[in-house]
Amino acid sequence: MVARLAGQLGGGCVLVTGTNGKTTTSRVLASILREARQPLLHNREGSNLMRGIASALLSAAGPSGRIAGSERMLGLFETDEATLPAAARTLAPRAIAFTNLFRDQLDRYGEVDSVFEFWRRALAGTPASATLVLNADDPSVAELAEGWSGPVEWFGLDAPEFATTSGGAFDARWCRECGGTFEYDLRYFAHVGYWRCPGCGRARVERPAVVARQITLSVESSMFVVDGLGAVTMPLTGLYNVSNALAAIAMARVLGIEDGPIVRGLAGVEAAFGRQETVVVEGRKLRLMLVKNPAGANQVLQLLGALARSADSKPLHVAVLLNDRFADGQDVSWTWDVDFEPLAQSLGRVWVGGTRAPDMALRLKYAHWPAAAAVEESPATLLDAILRDTSAGDDVFVVPTYTALLDFRGELARRGAVGEFWVHE
Ligand SMILES: [Zn+2]
Repeated sequence: MVARLAGQLGGGCVLVTGTNGKTTTSRVLASILREARQPLLHNREGSNLMRGIASALLSAAGPSGRIAGSERMLGLFETDEATLPAAARTLAPRAIAFTNLFRDQLDRYGEVDSVFEFWRRALAGTPASATLVLNADDPSVAELAEGWSGPVEWFGLDAPEFATTSGGAFDARWCRECGGTFEYDLRYFAHVGYWRCPGCGRARVERPAVVARQITLSVESSMFVVDGLGAVTMPLTGLYNVSNALAAIAMARVLGIEDGPIVRGLAGVEAAFGRQETVVVEGRKLRLMLVKNPAGANQVLQLLGALARSADSKPLHVAVLLNDRFADGQDVSWTWDVDFEPLAQSLGRVWVGGTRAPDMALRLKYAHWPAAAAVEESPATLLDAILRDTSAGDDVFVVPTYTALLDFRGELARRGAVGEFWVHE
């Protein structure tokens, strides 16, 4: 059914996958394509399994199974890492963007190696004419170019000012080709940066086609320079979101989109659900920053560290919410792979929530964070504590796992601060 429906799309299909950033990358790309007046079918409601792709196609189709206006329409499908083989086989994509490969929650897909194998298998079933849009900075993603006979469009960061010496767990330490240990001229987070293997000489491509440099991050936006586009602004912040934007820009160029719509699309992108979404409650700006795994959490903490170091910054108010339901990862030991420590000196008020609030409070105690003003499993009580301890005009960074975000956002919806999830999306 998916193959038959998608077969009507005259513009073909493109897929976006990776452990982190695929929702944001798809949002940025969709924004660019809208500016380019490209008719679009996008599984933006967030299910990135085959059933989500199927329902996006079905909802566009009439009773006869025809998709109106499909002659020029392009399918943009955010695709779960493990769904990629089925999606690539069924949709015969024109291009696939790979953002990164990190370890997800411990109990979800097992190790990164098995995800890499999903991807290898997916590429074996992908038309050789398809373009791979690859993150040059992630050696696991870059390796997909080996043995790919079709075109490759590379993107990467040129941001030595954001190099780190910590950055938490490496999710790729050894070269798959020869077993050598990767060395880094500079590293942004985890295993992402200017990598090379001293064993076999493989290394990050020297000149990716799409590069961001002169990156400036503020609380609500980022500015960076891209060759050909000049200085661009995007209302999303964090080095990881600049990398996501590059994936979208690279894909847009593969699709032949002109520079004007790319620049306007970046400027006009809206935050996805819980990803730097700002909710105002009684004058406080709650900035929701979903984290799903150690690498994602480290990226958010690194962003908070960068904001804390910026010139006019005050100590940061931060709430961390840890749940342990299936979608969060039931094994919460991953929090010990997250670098909470570097932020300890930059904090104002701290609150801890979620079904595993005491575990989280313990982790933060070991990270030398200030004692939490509240450790509350109930989202309502936690929100009350945040409002009690802050004043109108304050910024509060709320860092939840996935179902903790749903719970907390549900409480915000009950108080009328946000629409329900499906309405918002
Ligand atoms: Zn090697």
